[in-house]
Order: sequence, then structure tokens, then C-alpha cells
Amino acid sequence: MHPLARLDLRYIWHPFTQMRDWLRREPIVIVSGRGAVLRDAHGRQYIDANSSIWTNLHGHNHPAINAAIQRQLKRIAHSSALGLANEPASLLAEKLIATADLAGAPTRKRAGKPGSPRLRRVFYSDDGSTAMEVALKLAFESSRRAGRCRKPRFLTLASAYHGDTIGAASLGQIHLFRHTWEGLLFKSDEVMAPYCYRCRYNVAKPERADARAYRKCKWECLEILERRFVAQKKRDEPYAGFVFEPLIQGAAGMIPQPAGWLRRAAEIARQHNALLIADEVMTGFGRTGSGTTPDGRGPATQPLAGSDGASVQPRTAADGVRPAHPEAAVVQPTNFPLFACQHESVNPDLMAVAKGMTGGYLPMAATLTTAEIFGEFLGEYSEFKTFFHGHSYTANQLGAAAALASMEVLENPRSKRDRLRLEHDMHAQLARLWELPQVGDIRQVGLIAGIELVKDWRTKEPFDLRDRAGMRVCEAMARRGVLTRPIGNVVVIMPPYCVNGSQMAHIVDALHQSVKSVLD
Ligand SMILES: *Cc1c(COP(=O)(O)O)cnc(C)c1O
Repeated sequence: MHPLARLDLRYIWHPFTQMRDWLRREPIVIVSGRGAVLRDAHGRQYIDANSSIWTNLHGHNHPAINAAIQRQLKRIAHSSALGLANEPASLLAEKLIATADLAGAPTRKRAGKPGSPRLRRVFYSDDGSTAMEVALKLAFESSRRAGRCRKPRFLTLASAYHGDTIGAASLGQIHLFRHTWEGLLFKSDEVMAPYCYRCRYNVAKPERADARAYRKCKWECLEILERRFVAQKKRDEPYAGFVFEPLIQGAAGMIPQPAGWLRRAAEIARQHNALLIADEVMTGFGRTGSGTTPDGRGPATQPLAGSDGASVQPRTAADGVRPAHPEAAVVQPTNFPLFACQHESVNPDLMAVAKGMTGGYLPMAATLTTAEIFGEFLGEYSEFKTFFHGHSYTANQLGAAAALASMEVLENPRSKRDRLRLEHDMHAQLARLWELPQVGDIRQVGLIAGIELVKDWRTKEPFDLRDRAGMRVCEAMARRGVLTRPIGNVVVIMPPYCVNGSQMAHIVDALHQSVKSVLD
């Protein structure tokens, strides 16, 4: 056993890991990485097929990001944001606001206030959980100060995941992650989220395609959402905020929303005066691609229609929804939105970003918010309206320098072309998996894919979680030189943007062979 592996086994407690299993095996010790390839202490190479748990964007050891960090390192690594400003954090904040702002998005009248909210302020923190804690605290207190709610409550989606700290976990709805801490968590309400593959309202028989593409339903999920807001209002306790992962719920099992759902859900929340709290921790910085992936997601501009083609909510351009336009499907790489909300023209009041923000280099996160919410915290010092919250490493210079460099790479036309190519490559390659009877659903949103494994695609019968089917398939993939982590029975494929065609083919080969060898 490698001496570093021995040290790990002796001293380290790994996250989300049954350590008894861990201690039985020699762990893979990563010593270096280049592009999409990781190298271990024995010199073996692996493709990083989940971007190091959804963080890496452009590959490891990227020359531009390396150089930016080195430049910053020669000046200073860190000084506090409590009482001091710094260069990279200021430049990054300007860039984040410019990128996240939906210039040209349809504006809507909102409860007497003209225009739609626009993200104008950046509050830095360290990771996705803390970015969501900040969003939660800001929503809670601003709702009370604005007189919208006395006891702010939050509505979240079924199977939501927003992080592991107590506040973020209180917004989560994955039983396994929260039941132990139930006594520590505050209550948040849960509402049905679209999960077309396993939706009880979807009457379609399974097909060999993304369930969103062949579903037959009447958008019952949206009706239920609306009823929920109405019921809460009748109780005279309107929701302070609606919390959601836009376009695709990650830790829930890579569960994508059919085109049009997010826009309509956001409209409903707005009509009921709830703040829109978007968790773009996984989806941010280009991960959701061009929005034109064949199958499940059409162009975001298509009208909301039942799967029988009947329009459910007939709306016109005057309502701020552009009519279907065939050319909309041809997204030019130049208008590649970097955030999932932008695919559906949704303007959140609070937006949390983290994972990919530094290109996967350093732990840094941000919560973006509006001038309105910011304004609720302005006052005389003696009024103590200050937002009393902040972390030691907030606005860290090295992280900000890495994030700035990463965003520059994202703007590069070559990166846009690569992402578009990868998105289509992924779709084409993953289609080979349909021939396996244990592949029930393949769902892709941009550069994110989840492959749901079942006992038989015709019955959709799931594997018992105790059988570790997903885990065993991923272990077999590792032996074939591909690293990823499953979510239950869903295998996640989310490689860095630099993955080339033959690497993508290698990933899908490894998955194909592993499913066959482990589950047949
Ligand atoms: C990973 C994740 C988080 C938590 O982020 P950490 O950096 O792990 O704290 C929150 N929300 C979503 C959607 C995530 O994917």
C-alpha cells in the first residue's frame, strides 16, 4: 500500500462516506491532474468524469488560471473583507453582476413596483452551503423588515439539496441527509418537483428516450405548486421565499425540469410575492450549456404546452413570454447563458453560486442579491440594521483571481465552441446506453447528465439502495480509468469542459461495460 494511502486510512474521516467500507481498501491517492485527467500515486490515470464533484470547469492545471493565481500570489494571498476592500474581489463582483444580470429579459410588474428585480450586490462566502445560508438569512430578515411576513416560511422542492450547514440543510428535503438532525433544523415546506421519469401524473409508457420528451401529463406539478401558494396565503402566512435549483436538481439524482416549468413556477411565486431564491451552486458558470440539447429540453422560448401539444397556459408576448420561434433553437455560441435561470428568463432576488466559480480551484462562493434587499439593511449605525454575518476568508484574493480568470476563459469563443461540441458529443455518445436493459432514463441538461439504473427499463423497478448498484458500477468504472460518484442508482456524468470526443467515448464505454459486468 502506498504510504500516503496508509496515512489517509489512519487519520482522515471522509465526507458522505461509510468509513468502515473505506477502511477495507487502498484509496486512490490523487497526486496531479492535467486537463480532464487525474493521476494517482501509483501513476495510474483516470478521466475526471464528474469534474471533481461538480467543481472543475476548464480542466486541471489550466495555464490561464494557474498564471492568474501565481500573479496574485506574488502580491498577497489574503486580507480581510471585514473593514477592507481588495482588487480581485471588486473586479470579480463587477463581472458577476454583469454576467448574471438579465439585460433584455422580459420585465414584469411586481406588486405595485415597476420592473423586475435585478441582481446588484455580491456577498462573498466560502462554499455552496454558506452561500445558501446567506441567501436564507437575507430573505428572512428582509421579508420581515419589508413587512411581507411576520414569521417567514420557505417553500422548497421535493428532494431538494442546498448544503449541509444547519440552515442550508433545513431547506433540504432528502430524508437520508436530514432525519438525524431533525431536532436541530427549522421547518421548511416541501412541494412536488417535476421528475418526469417517476412522476405519478405521467401516464406514458416508458420509452428509450429522456422521459421529458415522451411524457404525457397536464402539468399537474405546476397546479400543485400554485395550490400550495394559494393555501398558504389563505392561512395569512404567505411564503417569504421559493427556493429552487433551476433547470436540474443535482443531489436529488440529476432530476431535470421540462422546458417551461421554471419560468411558470417563478411566475406563480412572484404572483404570491415570494422572493425567488435560486441555488445555482451546481448549475452556474455554463454547466447547463446552450439550452438546446436535443430531447428533453427545447429552446427556453417555447410556450408551455402539454405533451399532447395543447397549450396549458396560453400566453402572449405581452405577458413577457416570447412565442415559439423555430430559429430560437439555433443558439449562437455568442449568447451562451452562464446561469440556468437565464435559460428561462427568470430573475431571482437571491442567487447562490459556488462550486464552479473559481473554475474548481479554490473554495469561494457568492450570494447575489437586489438593491431592494440590500436596502433593507441600510440605516444609521445605531439602528443596528447591519447584516451581522461573515466568514474569515470572505473575498479571498487568490479565489477571486482564479474566478476572474475562469470567467475570462468562459467568454472565450473557443471555450464556447468546445462546450457546444461537448454538449452534442455527450448526447450522441450517451445514446449508446439505451441498448442496456438496466438503463431506465438518460437525462441531460447541457453538460450535466444523469443515467438512472433500474432492474428492467420496461418496469422501471429500482434497485434497492442497499444493493449499492450505482456505487458498484462506479467502482467498476474506476477500474476502467473513469472516476465519478453515483447518487443512489443514478450515475453522474459531468466532465470538465475540455473533455474531447475520444475521452467522452472512453467515459461512455467504461459505463457501458461496467453496467454489463456488474448488473447483468
Ligand atoms: C453542492 C451543492 C451545495 C452545497 O455546496 P458545498 O460547496 O458542498 O457546501 C448546495 N446546493 C447545490 C445545488 C449543490 O449542488
